Amino acid sequence: MKNFKNFILDLDGVLYLLNTPIPGGREFVAFLRERGQNIAFLSNNTFLTRAEYTEKLNKMGISARAEEIVTSAFVAARYLSQLQPLARVYVIGETGLKQEMVHSGLRVVTRGSADFVVVGLDRKFTFQKMKKALTLLMQGAQFIGTNPDPTYPTHDGLLPGAGAIIASIEVCSGKKAHVVGKPFPFILNFLLELRGFVPEETVIIGDRLDTDIALGNNCGVFSVLVLTGIAREEDVEKATVRPNLVVKNLFEFQEILS
Ligand SMILES: [Mg+2]
Repeated sequence: MKNFKNFILDLDGVLYLLNTPIPGGREFVAFLRERGQNIAFLSNNTFLTRAEYTEKLNKMGISARAEEIVTSAFVAARYLSQLQPLARVYVIGETGLKQEMVHSGLRVVTRGSADFVVVGLDRKFTFQKMKKALTLLMQGAQFIGTNPDPTYPTHDGLLPGAGAIIASIEVCSGKKAHVVGKPFPFILNFLLELRGFVPEETVIIGDRLDTDIALGNNCGVFSVLVLTGIAREEDVEKATVRPNLVVKNLFEFQEILS
């Protein structure tokens, strides 16, 4: 345990639930800072930009810098700008996703042709948007998905997630999206390279077996499941995806590390 230098933390279900901080998160990040550990925040969520996530965390008393935050929107934008600088992108998603595209120098278009169709969670998704995506894909645009999450948890219950929107477009177009987010290794490999983290010295902490823990296991990164979000103790027994460690909350993990 003592050899770990890098800690990658998921956000929803680990540090907060929507806008409510989860007890132990602030203390855990402060504990890591005190020890001079490297920290990264990794989320599939595309509602906000990196700057906005930084602000959200800081308001909760959790110290974070924008360079430490990696979202599937940020990774998709960086990836596309490397593939084709100044590309035209048609985005199905919310402001966080569109802003990251613009920050990476891509041109977000609503009319005419596009080089890429980028799809994330869009709470204003319509038949018209699906049709536009279909048309562009038939014209040869490349299909990128932010994350495959089937649902998104809120206090009002589950919302359909980005994965559901991506799937609808896959069905009508007959094309498979290249999905960059968790649990696909692309996002974690991107983060490891960006920060110069060695997998053997790195821990990933998350609340979902099917994304966070599967991702850690896929990339040779030590995986820690924290039971403050989606996964429950009984899920761990049934699951085929096994975390390296299960903790009730971040207080418990902090104790183990100290
Ligand atoms: Mg989570």
